[in-house]
Amino acid sequence: MIIVLKPGHTQSDIENVEHKVRELGYEPHTIKGVVRTVINAIGDETAHASLEVLATIPIVERVFPIQKRYRMVSREVTPETTTIPVGNLEIGGNTFHVIAGPCSVESYEQMLRTAEHVKTSGATLLRGGAFKPRTSPYDFQGLGVEGLKILDRVKQATGMPIVSEVVKETDLKEMLGIVDILQIGARNAMNYSLLEAVAATKTPVLLKRGMAATIEEWLLAAEYLVKNGNPNVILCERGIRTFEKATRNTLDLSAVALARQECNLPVFVDPSHAAGRHDLVAALSCAAIAVGANGLIVEVHPDPATASSDGSQQLTFEMFEHLMQRLAPFAEAACMKLA
Ligand code: PEP
Ligand code: MN
Repeated sequence: MIIVLKPGHTQSDIENVEHKVRELGYEPHTIKGVVRTVINAIGDETAHASLEVLATIPIVERVFPIQKRYRMVSREVTPETTTIPVGNLEIGGNTFHVIAGPCSVESYEQMLRTAEHVKTSGATLLRGGAFKPRTSPYDFQGLGVEGLKILDRVKQATGMPIVSEVVKETDLKEMLGIVDILQIGARNAMNYSLLEAVAATKTPVLLKRGMAATIEEWLLAAEYLVKNGNPNVILCERGIRTFEKATRNTLDLSAVALARQECNLPVFVDPSHAAGRHDLVAALSCAAIAVGANGLIVEVHPDPATASSDGSQQLTFEMFEHLMQRLAPFAEAACMKLA
């Protein structure tokens, strides 16, 4: 931490702050300028008491950190990208994985048809929400446990691993054994008790970025999972809320590039929730590969016009097949294999 003193301080002010720094378990290194004094407090900020309390001393102008607040997910600590085993698949290696399926589980036929089509087109994992966190309480809330049973049957029939969102801790027991990757949605990305409960299951997690979360907040949410014993975390950029209204959210591609550079976890992109419209999904998907994403999660529905949720952004089977064909040269240029 760096502590900057206000102009006009005395030698006794400096000694007082140095004393407080030592009391908090750090070693002060003081640099006296002509007008200002800066005290560098050396010590592990994750292991010691927070120095932010020093900002309450009237002569202190500013206190700011020099260490990153996330450690375990940082490439500074572990440079290699984490690879995550899911069934026979490996996420984070040189295969570009595409998770595809409807927004919500609606029926066995809907899930089975979707699974068969997306698998033929090259998707390796199947998505489908049984529990839906909807903005309006009047909207479809998901089939719940019934939806999980459908996912289980489709998994048995097709062999595809399942990605599905967990919205509350008490659903976890029923989800485990069926769901291979627990999705934490944008609305729950800062629900720290849910993150801790999901970490305890050790099941792989797809962690969406909160809709107004900074990159640091997103990586700190991942740190919660890893610190609490679950290293199997996949980050997912799904667009953030901005002033733009032409798209549902704004896909932050720089966050994908930055997360790949800073963080040792695989990064996926969700072009469906970013765009909120099917006609932009393919373009955003190609861009995602170009900036270094490890995979995609894409919404696909047998008949988007009749979907119970997110109809306008879901691809038809035909659109999905075209998307997979369009991705091929981008994957090759990024030295990634498409499954
Ligand atoms: C979803 O994947 O259907 C979903 C609700 O996503 P998000 O949390 O990104 O809005
Ligand atoms: Mn959706």
